[in-house]
Amino acid sequence: MIKNKSNEEYRALGIMGGTFDPIHYGHLVTAEEARCQFDLDAVIFVPSGKPPHKKNYRVSDAKHRYLMTVLAVVTNPFFDVSRTEIDREGYSYTIDTVREFREKYPNTEIFFITGADAILEILTWKKVEEVMDHCRFIAATRPGYNLNDLDKKFKTIMPEYSSRIQTIEVPALAISSTDIRRRVANNMSIKYLVPEAVEQYILKNNLYKS
Ligand code: ATP
Ligand code: MG
Repeated sequence: MIKNKSNEEYRALGIMGGTFDPIHYGHLVTAEEARCQFDLDAVIFVPSGKPPHKKNYRVSDAKHRYLMTVLAVVTNPFFDVSRTEIDREGYSYTIDTVREFREKYPNTEIFFITGADAILEILTWKKVEEVMDHCRFIAATRPGYNLNDLDKKFKTIMPEYSSRIQTIEVPALAISSTDIRRRVANNMSIKYLVPEAVEQYILKNNLYKS
């Protein structure tokens, strides 16, 4: 898929982390917009293993979330999927992933791509300062979140790191995995919210029915 960079290093790389339960067009359009605006060589999607922050519902098997992510990115030559978090024991922490990418790509500018809601949670992350030292952040607008407020908040709480976060506008897509799961459970259509192959995968494997 993407160019094998074992000899030739990436100049700029995006990491798109998420539960991807399931992956949807909101994730894909955000990653693509970040890639284009920041001229990234590639965006690697990193489905989380055991996410420490998602304890209020049962997250689907990593196997399903990984495969749906693979299905969703096949049509984009600049996108790829990493198994690092799903193959790791215990809870998934961003710091471990970022450290790993930093070691693998020592001279690459790494951008962590998130939606506006996720960046708001950032201060609760384990070792956020170290994460900030290893990579910059691209925060995408998501309907219902105010990036100006976020900017102010960040400047107050972490002034030394606020320049490490850049915001981008993406075509507003009010799509969430929560809504997709709810739709499937209620036998409602999810067409045009997720790539067709992902829709087929969900139906074939009877996901989100209960
Ligand atoms: P859930 O409803 O289960 O929380 P989600 O739709 O928020 O799912 P996640 O896997 O939690 O998806 O999100 C992964 C990343 O993608 C996060 O950084 C999140 O902010 C971002 N993201 C999710 N949906 C959108 C969207 N519609 N537009 C922009 N960013 C999004
Ligand atoms: Mg979410």
